Amino acid sequence: MKDYKTISLWKDVTSGQWEDWRWQLKNRITTTQQLSEVIHLSEEEKHDIDFCLKRFRMAITPYYSTLIDDDDDKNSPIKMQAVPSIKELDVRSEELADPLAEDSQSPVKNIVHRYPDRVLFIVTYKCSMYCRHCTRRRIVGEEDFSIDEETLENAISYIKSNSKIRDVLLSGGDPLVMNDGYIENIIRRLREIPHVEIIRIGTRTPVVLPMRITDDLVNMLRKYHPIWINTHFNHPKEITEESIKACTKIVDAGIPLGNQSVLLKGVNDNVETLKELYLKLVKYRVRPYYLYQCDLAQGIGHFRTKVETGIEIIRNLRGYISGFAVPTFVIDAPRGGGKIPINPEYIISVDDNQVVMKNYKGDIYFYPNNG
Ligand SMILES: *Cc1c(COP(=O)(O)O)cnc(C)c1O
Ligand code: SF4
Repeated sequence: MKDYKTISLWKDVTSGQWEDWRWQLKNRITTTQQLSEVIHLSEEEKHDIDFCLKRFRMAITPYYSTLIDDDDDKNSPIKMQAVPSIKELDVRSEELADPLAEDSQSPVKNIVHRYPDRVLFIVTYKCSMYCRHCTRRRIVGEEDFSIDEETLENAISYIKSNSKIRDVLLSGGDPLVMNDGYIENIIRRLREIPHVEIIRIGTRTPVVLPMRITDDLVNMLRKYHPIWINTHFNHPKEITEESIKACTKIVDAGIPLGNQSVLLKGVNDNVETLKELYLKLVKYRVRPYYLYQCDLAQGIGHFRTKVETGIEIIRNLRGYISGFAVPTFVIDAPRGGGKIPINPEYIISVDDNQVVMKNYKGDIYFYPNNG
């Protein structure tokens, strides 16, 4: 991690400003020119980024940009997640604008109702950083704003009138880029609905804008328990003093914190990297929840690994490290099929007499099946 004071663009920035999430948002890097003042870019890279920006937006928080400490390395895992690549313009025939068919499973605007007892509620299109591998890139960054009053009313009414909905997942965009009042207004109204048992928030702010996790925010959230949060760390380099502080505040407020990583070629598609990430996360009480196979969003083919890569990674973690440090590997199925666990197979056969299975080392065991 670089000291921001060494970057000429921010040499006069006070630590008070740097620690202020609003300053971070206001000063996001959105142009090639700004980016070239922060990290070294070759002429070719500048040209490629400019070209890419015609199609997809860029936004990088100053904080996250300082995690790129190997500027010249095109393959830096942090840089790859934040800086556009010319490869994004290579849209493959199997790729889709709406890879999870969210638009077709949307009964009212901004609600995705795919599973019987829970809904996804998109409360903003804004993010602090536009991750290059984002599955919702069709909407994220296109409309930077909060949802309007009518959309909010309709979404709340939908949830209110469906008593089967016991779990509401606030997503986006990133709900936590909005101010506390905006978030509280939504959560308070959901809490008034008796059948809504759990409210979850999906946010990448602990990773890309950790100063957003303020005492005020967590003190507001804890009034509405049970609140759960899932965040999105992909690489051990993202675990810094700042991000640890953010995670600690969240869990100290009694909010269970999970992590959803995306398997990304060149970023984290090997056992060593993910093992280090997961062991670090559990050390800070963050529970690895899902590892996603990269989906079919347009222009992210260069990040996609073979499905076997993820299965092999899980095989090399399960049994070797604490069970709760191993996430479930899933494919979020095209056409809205939902998350399907794709994990190593330990069962060799099952019949009326016995189960034949192997353990994590591959040794064979038998269990009588006469229950
Ligand atoms: C991921 C997702 C959920 C939550 O799924 P869990 O497996 O319970 O975490 C709910 N709705 C939609 C549309 C989703 O994509
Ligand atoms: S924070 Fe999430 S929704 Fe926002 S750009 Fe990154 S992956 Fe997409």
